Amino acid sequence: MTDMPDTTLTGDPSHDAPAEHGDDAAGYYTPGAPISDAKAPQGPIADRWQTRKFEARLVNPANRRKLDIIIVGTGLAGGSAAATLGEAGYNVKTFCYQDSPRRAHSIAAQGGINAAKNYKEDGDSAHRLFYDTVKGGDYRSRESNVYRLAEVSTNIIDQCVAQGVPFAREYGGLLDNRSFGGVQVSRTFYARGQTGQQLRIGAYQAMERQVAAGTVEQFTRHEMLELIVVDGKARGIIARDMVTGEIQTHLADVVVLASGGYGNVFFLSTNAMGSNVTAAWRAHRKGAYMANPCYTQIHPTCIPVTGAHQSKLTLMSESLRNDGRIWVPKKKADCEKDPRDIPEEDRDYYLERIYPSFGNLVPRDIASRAAKNVCDEGRGVGPEVDGVRRGVYLDFSAAIERLGRAGIEEKYDNLFDMYARITGENPYETPMRIYPAVHYVMGGLWVDYDLQSTIPGLFVTGEANFSDHGANRLGASALMQGLADGYFVLPHTIRDYLADGPFEKVPEDHPAVVEARRSVEDRVAHFLSTNGTRSVDSYHRELGIIMWEYCGMERSEDGLRKAIDLIRTLRDDFWRNVKVLGTAESLNQSLEKAGRVADFLELGELMCIDALNRRESCGGHFRAESQTEDGEALRHDDQFAYVAAWEFIGDPERSMGTPVLHKEDLVYTAIEMKQRSYK
Ligand SMILES: Cc1cc2nc3c(=O)[nH]c(=O)nc-3n(C[C@H](O)[C@H](O)[C@H](O)COP(=O)(O)OP(=O)(O)OC[C@H]3O[C@@H](n4cnc5c(N)ncnc54)[C@H](O)[C@@H]3O)c2cc1C
Repeated sequence: MTDMPDTTLTGDPSHDAPAEHGDDAAGYYTPGAPISDAKAPQGPIADRWQTRKFEARLVNPANRRKLDIIIVGTGLAGGSAAATLGEAGYNVKTFCYQDSPRRAHSIAAQGGINAAKNYKEDGDSAHRLFYDTVKGGDYRSRESNVYRLAEVSTNIIDQCVAQGVPFAREYGGLLDNRSFGGVQVSRTFYARGQTGQQLRIGAYQAMERQVAAGTVEQFTRHEMLELIVVDGKARGIIARDMVTGEIQTHLADVVVLASGGYGNVFFLSTNAMGSNVTAAWRAHRKGAYMANPCYTQIHPTCIPVTGAHQSKLTLMSESLRNDGRIWVPKKKADCEKDPRDIPEEDRDYYLERIYPSFGNLVPRDIASRAAKNVCDEGRGVGPEVDGVRRGVYLDFSAAIERLGRAGIEEKYDNLFDMYARITGENPYETPMRIYPAVHYVMGGLWVDYDLQSTIPGLFVTGEANFSDHGANRLGASALMQGLADGYFVLPHTIRDYLADGPFEKVPEDHPAVVEARRSVEDRVAHFLSTNGTRSVDSYHRELGIIMWEYCGMERSEDGLRKAIDLIRTLRDDFWRNVKVLGTAESLNQSLEKAGRVADFLELGELMCIDALNRRESCGGHFRAESQTEDGEALRHDDQFAYVAAWEFIGDPERSMGTPVLHKEDLVYTAIEMKQRSYK
């Protein structure tokens, strides 16, 4: 069982250009100049990060006290950055919209965090983690970034253990590991099914230490609604105090966005209800390019949708695929039966059948598509929703027989309890039912190797940037990336920018500041005075249906064109007909959501244009027109081996305008591009 039977790109006809086909997205965008990552060092891949760290200029401790940093977002990415930059002696201001940094979406992470520690002596190494991640991302990520991520992964575990994060341990006391999809080693560190929460507490404590020390000032329940750009550089934000409604100006020498992902553009997702794109989208409108926005991760193991009443979906951690076996009945006629009455020979363990090397641990994009396919064939299980059964079994009976119920409880009890509470079924006795759902976005603001966006002085970390996962993220790698960015990467790269300081102070009456503030006030006033007939949620739900239908698990040229038209019509209606109750000077969730949905309505269109442009299938982006004979994703490296970096062009107030596409070529020197195979 090896993951090496890949066929190389050279001479593989499946990678040749599709029969000459025009640009599907022609007319929806303007081609722009190529973009390159000027900060990425050259030389042997293993030396690049060391080289960059050495070459990045230093700021002496006395000068750090004179430099102000704003960090928007205090999840794992922002919280770890705030703790580290505060400890280094900079003046840090943090912002989050929750009542405590503890409540960031990061707390929801269940399964684990990867690191190439090789504690199991099973052949792991930084190079293997690098290889798995580039391959898992379907060769659409940057090799320098991914190698750095693999390299610093080991430091993260040491840092977190030093903070007291209670990672699971083996009988002998050593840290335990389990496996996640797309790999054949065990490198995932975990704290039962609460890894994100425990890491969050570690980063939060480290940040609060700096709050007590006076280096970090935190603003909770404050929402960034605009970026301030002065003379082409990011110099601050406009935020709204969500309790009093006060619009505030905050100025700094540099701004970091760690504002998380935008999966909620689909309305239904596993993300926290508040996760949104506003901070990133406001920056995009001010000049920060948005990269690969169409790359969305649909996670295979979520509790199936039960009807139109839902506003939230629940993840069942990928870690469950270590012990759970996925199957559907072989015969449609069995789909209504109690699964326990279906004999072994009538079950189709389809992942084990199609992908014998990786079995139930194939990457998420592959497992999700396979689940969709068997349900489309009419072999789904569970109640029918809109005439189709959209569910497959995740069965622990063999594992319970092998490990005993106590063994399963020890690993997964909180996940099993959660499943039982939500579905009313006991997963120890009957198999869980799962189905794919939107979970994570690989797209995000474009950053260079230093994590700096196309706006000088604006850095982006964590899920908000696009940097490391290509077209598909491997499980347990988001926490790794967020903490790598915050604890180990940004603190080194940001100093190179700050070494140009001290910077001239920006007065609050600077025209760019006044303009940013005015635009926020106007937007708030517009929403409250429109007095239309439809609720914000109804627009969000409708957008989500369009996105899921046409820009979800499978995309096609016709569907994407249709989606763009539908979104444009919906957006137009939203601006004329939305109803936002309440006042500006108080807690007003309807007003908060209106701003977020307005930005989702623009992002949704860009995602569809990006998906339309990319007439290939790669990772989570599956174009119906580009598949192999057996239905696998078919890349076209000769045409699409690039990062799509989109520049916003438009009326600064409302209209989207026509975006400009800048392509960054993906060049691999340390790894060979191959057709992905997990068979
Ligand atoms: C259910 C679930 C389980 C997961 N499990 C795992 C796992 O086991 N392993 C793994 O590696 N990954 C997992 N992930 C993915 C991972 O949790 C996220 O990618 C990661 O936590 C994102 O961290 P972040 O710091 O970038 O953003 P977040 O944790 O989302 O934090 C965003 C921060 O930005 C703030 N913010 C956003 N916009 C604004 C604004 N306009 N103004 C002010 N503040 C703002 C928020 O208040 C918050 O503080 C999981 C995801 C989900 C949905």
